[in-house]
Amino acid sequence: MTVASVSMPQELLDRIDEFADEHGYTGRSEVLREGARNLLGEFEDKQLEDRQLIGVITVLFDFETTNAEQRMMNLRHEYEGLVKSNFHNHVGDHQCMELFVLEGSLEEISAFVGKVRATKGTTTVDYSVTPVDASDAVV
Ligand SMILES: [Zn+2]
Repeated sequence: MTVASVSMPQELLDRIDEFADEHGYTGRSEVLREGARNLLGEFEDKQLEDRQLIGVITVLFDFETTNAEQRMMNLRHEYEGLVKSNFHNHVGDHQCMELFVLEGSLEEISAFVGKVRATKGTTTVDYSVTPVDASDAVV
């Protein structure tokens, strides 16, 4: 195996070590490897390929300390054909919540989620994906 050097906040590293401890991992490397594999496999869902999908993405960020809001607006314009709806609200003491409704392919939605995640200053990024035709839905 290759040894890689990765930068991350101390707090995140502490949480990884704690997680490794509590869940019986051999160490932080094992946790990071599994996390990376999950992330890479996340959008490789065969059931969702080649289908029209609805994606709902929720983003939280602190409006006092980041320019994430500007970045969200830029993404909205950049992906005008994909973004069906966009909603901005203020929650808690100083948090912005951005909600995007997307309609497109798995590839397009995963690219959008990737760009949201790469935005500096976001607190959380959550999403769900549902086929529009829902032909495999359990009735
Ligand atoms: Zn705001």
